[in-house]
Amino acid sequence: MTNAYCQEEFFSRSQLDAVQRTRLTSIVQRAAQSPFYAEHLAQAGVDPLSIQSLDDLTRLPFTTKDDLRQAYPNRMLTRPVTDMVRLHASSGTTGSATVIYYTQNDLDCWADLVARCMHMVGMRADDTFQNMSGYGLFTGGLGIHYGAERLGCLTIPAGAGNSKRQLKLLEDFHVSAIHIIPSYALHLGTVIEQMGFSPDRLKVRIALIGAEPHTEAIRRRIEEVYGLKAYNSYGLSEMNGPGVAFECLEQNGMHVWEDAYLPEVVDPDTGQPVPDGEIGELVITTLCREGMPLIRYRTKDLTRFLPGACPCGRMHRRIDRIKGRADDMIIIKGVNIYPMQVEQALMTIPEVGQNYQIVLEREGYLDQMRVKVEIKNEFFVEDMRVLQALQSRISSRLRDEILISVRVDLVESNSLPNSEGKAQRVLDLRE
Ligand code: AMP
Ligand code: ZN
Repeated sequence: MTNAYCQEEFFSRSQLDAVQRTRLTSIVQRAAQSPFYAEHLAQAGVDPLSIQSLDDLTRLPFTTKDDLRQAYPNRMLTRPVTDMVRLHASSGTTGSATVIYYTQNDLDCWADLVARCMHMVGMRADDTFQNMSGYGLFTGGLGIHYGAERLGCLTIPAGAGNSKRQLKLLEDFHVSAIHIIPSYALHLGTVIEQMGFSPDRLKVRIALIGAEPHTEAIRRRIEEVYGLKAYNSYGLSEMNGPGVAFECLEQNGMHVWEDAYLPEVVDPDTGQPVPDGEIGELVITTLCREGMPLIRYRTKDLTRFLPGACPCGRMHRRIDRIKGRADDMIIIKGVNIYPMQVEQALMTIPEVGQNYQIVLEREGYLDQMRVKVEIKNEFFVEDMRVLQALQSRISSRLRDEILISVRVDLVESNSLPNSEGKAQRVLDLRE
């Protein structure tokens, strides 16, 4: 096939099925070498050697985020920790939740997958690429970075924020492709407008956008502001990071690289597969991972398989844009946050009362989080300085926990809506 990054990219359906079968068989046996899976498979009554075909997949137990937490820090490793060369964690976690380890082989496979995505949307070795997502534990930094270098691009690790510097780098180095979180792309668009900076000064042709849910309208707006093509990029740290599913030039759904990831879409309540075209929870098995394979991992992301073949000729099945979450996780500025983290942080502060509410707002194109916190009567004093000190103590405690800045409103006891039954903790005013 012409213009492919690698052979696997244009595998026929029967080639994909064959490679999935072989890899599933061996990945289950490899996983069973970890203390966690040895136990997990035994508990489910599954002999790893009995998994011989793709039909056996549904006999395997699911793996959940809770399992990852329980296996923390390293009970899912198939080899000694000394064989690992890197670790990452899910964005927004302070480290103790979902940690993923990589061997050198894992990093090489990952870089190849990301490079494959980039190549698919027209990036080549002569492109100059600016990665505008945060580095550190978040996989959108180094994951995308090594993919671009693997492709041979001159790669600028700009990191997140600092709009003026981003623009200077983009202009001075004639950057032709970028990776950027959609909400930040929109925000930067506003900055450009305010500065009276003409977007014509930029030469960016391609934007990879991902890490948070966004609509088709937002994509179109990003494309118009910068005069480029924007492609949806899906990944999660549990599956290495970016490079799991990616749009092709057709921009109609994201191909899941099925030689590396075995996807299923299941009913989030029953765990049973839903028919193609119906929305359910995406479940993925890693087919290549060496250090820390994951079997039937419940991503909690809601999507559907798009029926029919893609005009691009690739047979890797496509998923629709992510429609939402099967749990209460929220994503702000590309960072994952669970309301429970907010609650845990608040409850360490003695002045905090019974109730709180998280309000998600949009200011311009940027998402903001406001936390309204009830204060116990005895601490709700008239001295502003005392209240301001309390407010900033709560803000910094929250920042330590969820890694983003939030606004804190102190309110009197019993002033927040006290719903009967399940508390309505999150009020989303962003749409
Ligand atoms: P992390 O593990 O921090 O990389 O976060 C992964 C999560 O971010 C996924 O499970 C999704 O909920 C979300 N996510 C990543 N990419 C996208 C995307 N293109 N569209 C919507 N949500 C995304
Ligand atoms: Zn396609």
